[in-house]
Amino acid sequence: MGLDDGVRELLRQPMKEFHFTIPVKMDDGSTKIFKAYRIKHNDARGPAKGGIRFHPHETVDTVRALSMWMTWKCAVVDIPLGGGKGGVICDPRHMSLLEQERLCRGYIRQSYHQIGPNIDVPAPDVMTNGQHMLWMLDEYETISGGRYPGVITGKPVGMGGSLGRTEATGYGVIYMLKNLLKAEGIKLRNTTASIQGFGNVAEYAARLYSKMGGKVICISCWNQDDGVAYTFRKKDGCDIEQLVSIKDSYGSIDKDKAKEFGYEVLPASAWLSEEVDILIPAALENQITPSVLADISNSVKVICEAANGPVTPDCDDEIAGRGIKLIPDFLCNAGGVICSYFEQVQGNTNYYWGNDEVFDKLSTAMSNAFHAVYITSKEKELQMRDAAYTIAVSRVVDAVKKRGWV
Ligand code: NAD
Repeated sequence: MGLDDGVRELLRQPMKEFHFTIPVKMDDGSTKIFKAYRIKHNDARGPAKGGIRFHPHETVDTVRALSMWMTWKCAVVDIPLGGGKGGVICDPRHMSLLEQERLCRGYIRQSYHQIGPNIDVPAPDVMTNGQHMLWMLDEYETISGGRYPGVITGKPVGMGGSLGRTEATGYGVIYMLKNLLKAEGIKLRNTTASIQGFGNVAEYAARLYSKMGGKVICISCWNQDDGVAYTFRKKDGCDIEQLVSIKDSYGSIDKDKAKEFGYEVLPASAWLSEEVDILIPAALENQITPSVLADISNSVKVICEAANGPVTPDCDDEIAGRGIKLIPDFLCNAGGVICSYFEQVQGNTNYYWGNDEVFDKLSTAMSNAFHAVYITSKEKELQMRDAAYTIAVSRVVDAVKKRGWV
């Protein structure tokens, strides 16, 4: 991109890092000290935005990398936010709810001056949820003495959360797909898809895709009892509502009930080799690697990276060489962060929108982002991932230069 050294040096690392400890009184009377982080990669375009993860293997490097990813994600969809991320090294699965509450409140007490509606706006991430966000919000408001619902997103609806947030990431994936198919002259209602995952993202993507007339042939998900994943297939199209009715809260489909409903139960990897038009990896990172590329059917025209990092970057050239269009993760799954931005706006104005308004605005934002990337990829003869990064980085560079930082 021809960036000068100062710009590269600035963008290569987070601008601010806060490392702190949180002492928590445990239920057995002992005190545990948890290591925590809040990192701001870049806030030239607006307040930083990004989740807080609770994980026993959390590392400062993961938080750094994810904060940078948030900068590019917010920039590529052109929302006026920067990139941030937080984390606590802990395992909430082995903590009581009261201990978790004390940890959340402790996180805010230690980072109070670093966050705020106009500074840095946290959200849920791995192993954190709406309840954790509410405890954090309450602690923030207790210290500040005011009501600031825009300081944190991912809150439950009715307590400052936005309608549509549950659906936003999955729906956003399909808004992207719809735009791409239209640009490529393919009718969505004539297409078939195979999906990996049946959690939050995959479920709502599958629902909207089917509602628009597409046919989901395969869904692959994890089976806790057997410790393996399976692919559930129905050649004439899965009934998504029926599968939702037999899945648990972790996104696992009941194998026996699926068989009763006439689904074939196939090995985990079968979803990838199915003869469909569209692949939607919506479960985990590193699922499509060079060693499995040959398994992808020649019928596949589009891969939607609904999960974060499901296709390893060393696959990009071969995928492009086969004429498959790939919608890159940080564009494809940005519906979630766009809706979090909407939640922040609604919180800051204390005025909440209806479902239709949220989905209309989400669809418009995703379409605008898609067209900017698609046009750039055509004009500069770039793959969509490179086009998306070019746009995102350019916008941040423009902001840091206009502010006179470099
Ligand atoms: P989730 O926990 O709700 O669902 C995960 C799904 O993956 C489950 O259905 C599970 O059975 C399945 N799965 C796990 N291991 C599998 C395996 N080996 N093979 C097949 N299926 C497997 O998670 P989610 O919120 O839907 O997130 C999915 C991905 O999307 C993640 O990469 C996440 O980081 C990313 N993402 C999520 C959001 C969001 O708003 N939820 C936003 C952006 C990105």
